Amino acid sequence: MTIINHPPFGKFEHPTLTANGEVRAKVPLRRLETVWINTGTLCNITCDNCYIQSGPHNDRLVHLTRAEVRTFLEQAAECGTQEIGLTGGEPFMNPECLGMIEDALEAGFRVLVLTNAMRPMQRFGAALTALNRRYPGRLTLRVSLDHYQAEEHERFRGQRTWQPALDGLIWLVREGFTVAVAARMVWGLSESVMRICFRELFAIHDIAIDAQDPAQLVLFPEMTNDREVPEITEKCWDLLGKSPDSVMCASSRMVVKRKGAQYPVVVACTLIPYDPAFELGDSLATASQPVALKHHHCTNFCVLGGACCNPHGSKTP
Ligand code: SF4
Ligand code: SF4
Repeated sequence: MTIINHPPFGKFEHPTLTANGEVRAKVPLRRLETVWINTGTLCNITCDNCYIQSGPHNDRLVHLTRAEVRTFLEQAAECGTQEIGLTGGEPFMNPECLGMIEDALEAGFRVLVLTNAMRPMQRFGAALTALNRRYPGRLTLRVSLDHYQAEEHERFRGQRTWQPALDGLIWLVREGFTVAVAARMVWGLSESVMRICFRELFAIHDIAIDAQDPAQLVLFPEMTNDREVPEITEKCWDLLGKSPDSVMCASSRMVVKRKGAQYPVVVACTLIPYDPAFELGDSLATASQPVALKHHHCTNFCVLGGACCNPHGSKTP
């Protein structure tokens, strides 16, 4: 006997229907512009606000190997992908991170690395500089500074995290890297105030980043699950005046390797790495189906939060 799962459901339970029985919104893959590589969830610090709960002991997503990443680079090339993003954890905790960057640059991709710019990145200093010189303008490092003041940054990231991150950022700028900064909108300040204050910070330290440019200073809405959020239905796009193309899963996917798994898998986006409902198979070719918005992050962060995740990723590592 077939048992049909029918309303009432809880919120975010059913793959295609919402709790009140409407058709859940789906996002078709428009074009695979960016492939994210989650190099592993280990990180050198533990931030209170880390959406992926990274830290020195979290290896739920294990380190991908350079050889594993090469396979996905080949698939990405076949899909016409232009950009490879490296995220974590802290990508430079993965000993093969530099090799992955090199392979991606060599294959002709633009590469974006999300880093906290602290010790794990700094120990690759000379080799990273050499790579950047070999592929001028193809590599961008996006550094997370949660706030323009040390005290607030360290409130989430822990003591003695500000100066090493700032030093890393300054070093990158002086070495001629293309650099962006990611910060968070969690202080009740308006976007314009955040941008003005960051502009002052950049001016003080001679950091050539245009704080008015949303691609150079990326401001993310807070990823909190504290409040009740509605589910997104097919009708919401018109009601909100928003296109499914504007969210990250319309143009990107992420490769992860779960602890104990034999192979990496592809998930819908960088924001939901652990939920099996967002797993889309073991190759980019199998991962092109539409994504049902069945998670509170979809509502909170992408559709109502106003985060334009693409092309610059979504995480402040
Ligand atoms: S969190 Fe955003 S990018 Fe991820 S599946 Fe939901 S809508 Fe798509
Ligand atoms: S937010 Fe970034 S730096 Fe902080 S724990 Fe997470 S991955 Fe590490």
